[in-house]
Amino acid sequence: MPSSIFWFRRDLRLADHPALAAAAARGPVVGLFIRDAELEQRSGAARLSFLRSSLADLNASMDGNLVIKTGAPIEALRSVIAETGATAVFATDDYGPYGRSRDTAVGEALAGDGIDVHYLDSPYVVPPGSILSGGGTPYKVFTPFFKAWKKHGWPAPGGVVEVNWDTSLESEPIGELPETGSELPAAGEAAAWERADAFLADAVFRYDEARNDPGIEGTSRLSPYLKFGTIHPRQLLDRLGDTRDEDVFRSELCWRDFYAEVLFQRPDSARNAFVAKMVDMEIDEGPLADERFDAWRTGQTGYPIVDAGMRQLLAEGWMHNRVRMIVGSFLVKDLHLDWSRGARHFMTHLVDGDLASNSHGWQWVAGTGTDASPYFRVFNPVGQSRKFDPTARYLRRWVPEIAHLDDKSIHEPWTCKAGAPAGYPGPIVDHAAERIEALDRLKRLKNRLEEG
Ligand SMILES: Cc1cc2nc3c(=O)[nH]c(=O)nc-3n(C[C@H](O)[C@H](O)[C@H](O)COP(=O)(O)OP(=O)(O)OC[C@H]3O[C@@H](n4cnc5c(N)ncnc54)[C@H](O)[C@@H]3O)c2cc1C
Repeated sequence: MPSSIFWFRRDLRLADHPALAAAAARGPVVGLFIRDAELEQRSGAARLSFLRSSLADLNASMDGNLVIKTGAPIEALRSVIAETGATAVFATDDYGPYGRSRDTAVGEALAGDGIDVHYLDSPYVVPPGSILSGGGTPYKVFTPFFKAWKKHGWPAPGGVVEVNWDTSLESEPIGELPETGSELPAAGEAAAWERADAFLADAVFRYDEARNDPGIEGTSRLSPYLKFGTIHPRQLLDRLGDTRDEDVFRSELCWRDFYAEVLFQRPDSARNAFVAKMVDMEIDEGPLADERFDAWRTGQTGYPIVDAGMRQLLAEGWMHNRVRMIVGSFLVKDLHLDWSRGARHFMTHLVDGDLASNSHGWQWVAGTGTDASPYFRVFNPVGQSRKFDPTARYLRRWVPEIAHLDDKSIHEPWTCKAGAPAGYPGPIVDHAAERIEALDRLKRLKNRLEEG
């Protein structure tokens, strides 16, 4: 049988891999990864570095048989087909806007060349487009989606796929690891399992409460592995029992599917407000807005919880979910900047940066998305800090300038009796005043909409 090509994308593993198994069942397989400049340009250094380390790990698991090609996907595939005589291409299906149009174009072009192209499975528990409400329309609200998702079910994970790799091709290099300045987690399938096993043996049983405390390891930190498919969410679900904490963790995996579904149904929502009327919310632009954005980006707003989160993002390429919500709310409702500006900054620095989860996480915070927290709910950065980091463990780690302050004043250092600590900025805005401003803007938007 002539070889098939297996085109790796967001599925850099050998276990529980239905699309790879389908290719392997047909005969020898060329394992291919295409370095697509279009995608590499969108990736910040941290995510690119993690991707390349994940590819190096995959290559080692394939006894060095991973083939790297650089170029536009269709050209890279045609060159491998010409070199090997492969007659079929297999890949895990992609549901994002870029992936869908790329795959349609590749499928049509290769079909014209007489090549069979198979897109199978997905990076999700349930592939987008599979779950519709009773009325046959997509869900716009999470809770009923979660119920329908559980009812729909999913296949049990498969084992490690045995593959007869085609060894005839020379590979290009995976590429240098870009300089990141960030401390990134170990990459690859074994590293993903090391983390998953540790989490599933212990922290998952405290997850409901612990997941909100950024000062402890209360969440799985599996998002970078899920992003590149070195682990599949199906494999995690298979290990979960029925305790309340495990069900909350199950629901978080469902949020990932939900946002992929929303983006699949509304690709425009990657960049634009899901709720059209929110597009007209007044936002600040100009030199002062840029100055404030810079203070936010670099962790110099004078609000410790915001600065801690933004510094963690730069240092680790990751930020705790609770803090993502706090810094997001601060950007939109205290600084009155467009959510998409913050989303772009996140996509540059997050190792787990994922268009669906990121754009919709931001829209949830901004009050412009599906199932959004209403716009009038404004996070108080001091209240959130006190509630979720009561012993200030997180603040002391990321904002060392104020580490000496007591547990009360550390959340709002400008109230210190001894005066504001040297070397740490005062608050760049007054939260109480900006909250009122945000609500006024909402009122003005409502009035404009009513006036038509
Ligand atoms: C403004 C904002 C931007 C975000 N951007 C991203 C992003 O680019 N990529 C990303 O993977 N997640 C994003 N999230 C969701 C969430 O913050 C991360 O998935 C989570 O912090 C990852 O850490 P963890 O693996 O320890 O999560 P855990 O709490 O251990 O959760 C397990 C997994 O469930 C999924 N998950 C958990 N919460 C969410 C959620 N709210 N939405 C979607 N999936 C979720 C993730 O795949 C996560 O790895 C964003 C959230 C917000 C508020």
